[in-house]
Amino acid sequence: MKPDLDAFWMPFTASRQFKKAPRLLTKASGMYYWDDQGRQILDGVAGLWCVNAGHNRPKVVKAIQAQAAEMDYAPPFQMAHPKAFELAEKLAGLAPAGMNKVFFTNSGSESVETALKMAIAYHRARGEGQRTRLIGRERGYHGVNFGGISVGGISGNRKMFGTLLAGVDHIRHTHDPARNAFSVGQPEHGADIADDLERVIALHDASTIAAVIVEPIAGSTGVLIPPKGYLNRLREICDKHGILLIFDEVITGFGRTGTPFAATTFGVTPDLMSLAKGLTGGAVPMGAVLAKQSIHDVFMTGPEHMIEFAHGYTYSAHPLACAAGLATLETYADEGLLTRAAQLQAYFGEALHSLKGLPNVIDIRNFGLVGGVELTPQTGEPTKRALGIFLDCYDKGVMLRYTGDIIAISPPLIIERAQIDQIVDTLRGAIQRAA
Ligand code: PLP
Repeated sequence: MKPDLDAFWMPFTASRQFKKAPRLLTKASGMYYWDDQGRQILDGVAGLWCVNAGHNRPKVVKAIQAQAAEMDYAPPFQMAHPKAFELAEKLAGLAPAGMNKVFFTNSGSESVETALKMAIAYHRARGEGQRTRLIGRERGYHGVNFGGISVGGISGNRKMFGTLLAGVDHIRHTHDPARNAFSVGQPEHGADIADDLERVIALHDASTIAAVIVEPIAGSTGVLIPPKGYLNRLREICDKHGILLIFDEVITGFGRTGTPFAATTFGVTPDLMSLAKGLTGGAVPMGAVLAKQSIHDVFMTGPEHMIEFAHGYTYSAHPLACAAGLATLETYADEGLLTRAAQLQAYFGEALHSLKGLPNVIDIRNFGLVGGVELTPQTGEPTKRALGIFLDCYDKGVMLRYTGDIIAISPPLIIERAQIDQIVDTLRGAIQRAA
C-alpha cells in the first residue's frame, strides 16, 4: 500500500516535485537498494556518504538486534555503559597519534557544533578567553546547525537564516579549474591558496581566533580535492599563530580516502576532528569528535566533583549506536575496508576520467573512492542539467547524487570493479542523453 505523502516535510528535497514522482526505497543489502516496485538499484553514493561497509551487514544487524533486546537506553550524563568506553577506545586506536579522546554525538552537524564549542572553551580554559573567532572556508559544508552554517560557505544554506553566529570569517575555497581541471588525484596547483588564512589572520589578529575548520576533501559542495601541500600549509599557519585546526571528516572518515581518515592519508594531524556517517555505516545515527589529549587535559582542572565540559546530548553514546559502531568497525577490520579505497583508486579514477570529452563535462575530480563530475549549467537554469542526469541514472538503476551542476560518486567501500563500470557506463549514457 502506498503511504500518504502529505505530512512528511522532507529535508533538503525539492518536495513538491518529489511527491509527484516519489522515489521510495524499501529494502537494502550489500551494494544495492530495492524500491517499492521491487526494482534493484546500485548504490553509487553509500546512501548519503555513510554506508561504507555496504548495507545490512550481518554483524551490524545482529549487534543492533541483540543490544535492543538487552538494554535500550542508558543516560550518558553522570552514568554510562561499557560499550561507550569500548567504542571510544577502538576509535582512538584508529585515529592519528595523540587524538585519543572521543566525545559522542548523534550526527555530523552535532559533531561540528561540539568541536567548535570545544575550541572556544579550550582557549578560555587556558586563559585566552578572547580567542572566540571561528574561521571557515567558502564552499564548506559543516551540517545545518547554527555554528555549522556560520562557518560553512554555501550561500544557499545560509541566506535564509538571519545573521548567523557573530565573529566568523572565511578563507577562500580551493576550486581552481583554470589551473587544475581534470586533475587525477590531488591537484598540482594551490598550496598557495592556504596563504589566504594569513590575510584573515592579519585582519582580525591571531589573538582573537580560536579555530579554523575545513573539510580535508570538500564533499557536499561538489568534491573539491585539496591541492598538494595545501593542508600542510594550513597546519603550519595555525601552529604559527596558536590557532586550533579542525578537520571535518564526516564524509572523509572511515576509509573513504584509502586509510581510516583523510588526516592519515594526507599526513596532516588536526587538533580536533568531527566524525559521523561511516562510524556506524549509517545503521544508527551517531557522530563523534576526536580530540588531542592535550586539548582534553586543559579541561581537567578544578574541583573533581564539578562537570568539566558543560555539553552533551541525551543520546550521546546511545547503546544501539555503540553496538552498531563496534560491529561496523569490526566489519571494516575483517574485510580490510579502511584501505580498500587505496586499492581501487586507480581503477575508479581511470573509469571516471573516461568521461572526459563528453558534452558539457568541464571537470572531473577524484580521490580514493570519491569522485565529482562537473557540468556546464543549462543557460538560466542552474542545477537542472545535473538533476536530469541524476534522475536518468536512477531510472537506469544507479543511485548517484548531484549538488549544483556536479554529480558526486562515493560508493560503499565493498564495491567491485564491474560495479564501478556499471556506474560510469550509466552516467556516460545519461550525460550523452542530456546533451
Ligand atoms: N560535515 C560534513 C563535512 C558533511 O558532509 C556533513 C553531511 O553531509 C555534515 C557535517 C553534517 O552531517 P549530518 O547530516 O549527519 O548532520
